[in-house]
Amino acid sequence: MKILVTGGAGYIGSHTTLLLLNAGYDVIVFDNFSNASAESIRQVEALTDKKTILIEGDIRSRKDLEEVFSNHKIDAVIHFAGLKAVGESVEQPLRYYENNVCGTVQLCEVMAEHGCRQIVFSSSATVYGDPHTTPIKEDFPLSATNPYGRSKLFVEEILKDLYISDAEWKVILLRYFNPVGAHESGRIGEDPSGIPNNLMPFIAQTAVGKREKLSIFGNDYDTHDGTGVRDYIHVVDLAEGHLKALEKLPDIKGVLTVNLGTGQGYSVLDMVKAFEKASGKKVPYVFAPRRNGDIAKCYADPAYAKKVLGWEAKRGIEEMCEDTWRWQSQNPNGYTY
Ligand code: NAD
Ligand code: UDP
Repeated sequence: MKILVTGGAGYIGSHTTLLLLNAGYDVIVFDNFSNASAESIRQVEALTDKKTILIEGDIRSRKDLEEVFSNHKIDAVIHFAGLKAVGESVEQPLRYYENNVCGTVQLCEVMAEHGCRQIVFSSSATVYGDPHTTPIKEDFPLSATNPYGRSKLFVEEILKDLYISDAEWKVILLRYFNPVGAHESGRIGEDPSGIPNNLMPFIAQTAVGKREKLSIFGNDYDTHDGTGVRDYIHVVDLAEGHLKALEKLPDIKGVLTVNLGTGQGYSVLDMVKAFEKASGKKVPYVFAPRRNGDIAKCYADPAYAKKVLGWEAKRGIEEMCEDTWRWQSQNPNGYTY
């Protein structure tokens, strides 16, 4: 089977590509490298001793997409390509809508023209907004508080409309919780450009000495220690969820929406302590005011993923921290060495 992986050179895409290659799929990685380096795919190929077809292209370019679909008979698409920085999306909403929403529309148009109607889409737990309770189930009300989140909600709706218009479409919407960790080899991992927005890369860069201290945004939340609670999920578990989704795609009717989380919530302080233990390094921190738009608690009810995909997360907080540390300490400057 031939799978097109848009955004395949990125953090989650590269880990998924590695697993796809190991499982025997033919993989076309399609990425504009706006937030990735081709080095990730070179590492994946070395680790698997298999080749991808690596294409530099943009999902907003019909020409780029036409070329791929004309040259290859693609069975299904895993669609990771997108911009993902919440703060940036508030400053540049049109850029986010153009890339994430218009890009996906182009992709779906070209897919349909070429008779490919199977897609797995990277959605996010952000579509639940501020949930009224936890754990979060797939049928909870949806809302978004920023353009990034809204771009995910819009694409979910667009894909549902596609199925209404043409029952041949098979769509799996995967709502990720908080991906962290890296492949156990330490050769691929998360390589954020500039100052990391997310907690785990910030902790890792502090432990390795690239940042002076972590600012913990808020210590007065209604949680066990006052700091925000999230459902951190190992990126390899997440990647395995995509393989399960791919196997399930041909059997589904319409649109399947699935949370990918562990069901376990950890606070910022829990993560700091676990990381210090895994790395043997101190992570200096200060308490800072709450970050705008943050919520107290967010963690998944993962029961539906187990029921429909036969998938559940296997890797715990120790492995998440150990693997992040291996990647960070072996590649302090990410892929630019
Ligand atoms: P990433 O930035 O590492 O990967 C996204 C990839 O898409 C990058 O390689 C980038 O170069 C590429 N890309 C962006 N715009 C493109 C375009 N127009 N054409 C072609 N390629 C393009 O991010 P990630 O963490 O691997 O996230 C993958 C997907 O999962 C994204 O859609 C993201 O919104 C979603 N997601 C991520 C998280 C997270 O915390 N990492 C959580 C929920 C959902
Ligand atoms: N966080 C923090 N300091 C940072 C980055 C994040 O205290 O430098 C906290 C944030 O307030 C939230 C948790 O860590 O409670 C996870 O934040 P992240 O941005 O990684 O993911 P989110 O769930 O917000 O998408």
